Amino acid sequence: MTRMLHFSNRLVIGGLLCVLFFGCTQKPSDSTRTDDQGSATTLDVTPRIERVLTREERDQLTPDDVIKILKEGNQRFVSGTLTSRDHSQQARKAALGQHPKAVILSCLDSRIPVEDAFDRGIGDVFVARVAGNFENTDILGSMEFGCKVVGAKLILVLGHEHCGAIKGAIDNVELGNITAMLSNIRPAVEHFADYKGEKTGENDEFVHMVTEQNVRMTMANIRAKSPILNEMVSNGELKIVGGIYNMETGTVTFLE
Ligand SMILES: [Zn+2]
Repeated sequence: MTRMLHFSNRLVIGGLLCVLFFGCTQKPSDSTRTDDQGSATTLDVTPRIERVLTREERDQLTPDDVIKILKEGNQRFVSGTLTSRDHSQQARKAALGQHPKAVILSCLDSRIPVEDAFDRGIGDVFVARVAGNFENTDILGSMEFGCKVVGAKLILVLGHEHCGAIKGAIDNVELGNITAMLSNIRPAVEHFADYKGEKTGENDEFVHMVTEQNVRMTMANIRAKSPILNEMVSNGELKIVGGIYNMETGTVTFLE
């Protein structure tokens, strides 16, 4: 009898949990807002619940589609309407494979939440990070893996304002392995040899100029140093774009 009571108690508790669980998950799925392919149906403010991208869905996207998706995602990040995601569930669904649509090369800076900044979830984007967001053999190999082997359609080189690595390169900081690392950014500093203003990390204008130049040089270096990626760009299978993340607003300005 006691056991029966326990059993029925469990049924009640189980039922209650089911109601709570489905009560929580049902509501957002009722709202069919735009998906990644842009098919808008009803407009409401309920956050979207995203699935893990399938290979078929990713393969249908063009590089320009991916740029549009990242831009729209950044607008949601800025306006505080990020998609609601069940990351633990997504992680399990993504366990058997991945079909991300882009490779984002970001700075190490802890103030840039890369996936959130574009409203992307698990399995959506590859993220490579190194202080100063420059390319090297390992980053290029990672990009070739992401694009040529796995099929990503876009490489975004993402610089940011107030970058400590850029300031360090401008100020010729020397410390351990940081010295060698910053030498990767020095060409962007030396590009402005004729700059008449104050060439220090204190000069916001100069820091911004070098930040943008570093992104542009990295974009060019990726094509110059990777025949595989260069060919993909020439074939229209891949685009390489640059952007600057604004710390104050979260806005990413895509470079022309
Ligand atoms: Zn940085």
